[in-house]
Amino acid sequence: MAKLVGVMLSERVRAGLVVDHALAGALKMFPAPSDSEDDEYALVEMPAESVVETMCDQVLAAAGPEHVLAGVGVAVPGYVRNGVVEEAPNLPQLKGVRLGEMLAMQLHARGIDAPAAIINDADALAAGLAARMGKLDSIIRVWTLGTGIGSGRYPLTEGVWEGGHTIVTLDDKENYCGCGGRGHLEGIMGHRAMRLRFLDMEPEEVFEAAKHGDARCLEFKKLWHKALAAATASSVHLRGPGKFFLAGFNVRFVDMPMLRDYLQQMVKMSPLQGYSIEIVTDDLETRVVGAAVSAEQSIGC
Ligand SMILES: [Zn+2]
Repeated sequence: MAKLVGVMLSERVRAGLVVDHALAGALKMFPAPSDSEDDEYALVEMPAESVVETMCDQVLAAAGPEHVLAGVGVAVPGYVRNGVVEEAPNLPQLKGVRLGEMLAMQLHARGIDAPAAIINDADALAAGLAARMGKLDSIIRVWTLGTGIGSGRYPLTEGVWEGGHTIVTLDDKENYCGCGGRGHLEGIMGHRAMRLRFLDMEPEEVFEAAKHGDARCLEFKKLWHKALAAATASSVHLRGPGKFFLAGFNVRFVDMPMLRDYLQQMVKMSPLQGYSIEIVTDDLETRVVGAAVSAEQSIGC
């Protein structure tokens, strides 16, 4: 039975002991939820070394008396490659940091010899969903619809997959993506991008007005769904059919019949018809478990 610790790094550090692909015990976190609001920004203001120390504290707390761990997996919102955080917009001090190496060294100094794997948080979510559903033998892809658009997949594979920046339109005016690129999925679907597009309306108001037949808003609602269908169809055409999950706070805007209709228009080859798309609840536990499951895979333990 593999024992690992999964860690999720966001505005807080959360860690949990994962035994046999399930959480064993409560999540440990810093700052604690009872701490004052100022502490919400504690991590952002910390130098990278202190973030690593804080992670180490939480790993030890989660492991408890269990000092023999097969590995530690850390889910980071950002672009991660070979244990190095190449880009982390919400924790900029981590850019270029060899996080896996630093964490393993710090753990070693404190009595735990375990390899540490750093994983993109959307990939961790995909792995966590696979574990939660008992589908560790299938291919799972997930879109996270939030401030930006994340794309994750399970099982982990080598390479780059910034699916949120999939090109979904050739329109020159589509330049709302946070990365600055033109025609990107996130530039249409991301919460930040929607606020830039509709300076006078919040995204909630746009989707509400679309329901009541406002022409501009309805047009946008269609574009939003076409964009997601296009990115999903591209993924199907490149990597084959399979299960797609939608998570994140903006799944509330998804009109499933509309999305499925666009997908049907975009994927026509019969061998590629075996895809499905479904909304799932996205919780912290799933990401923590996923971080551990991904670590187990990438360490090969
Ligand atoms: Zn982009």
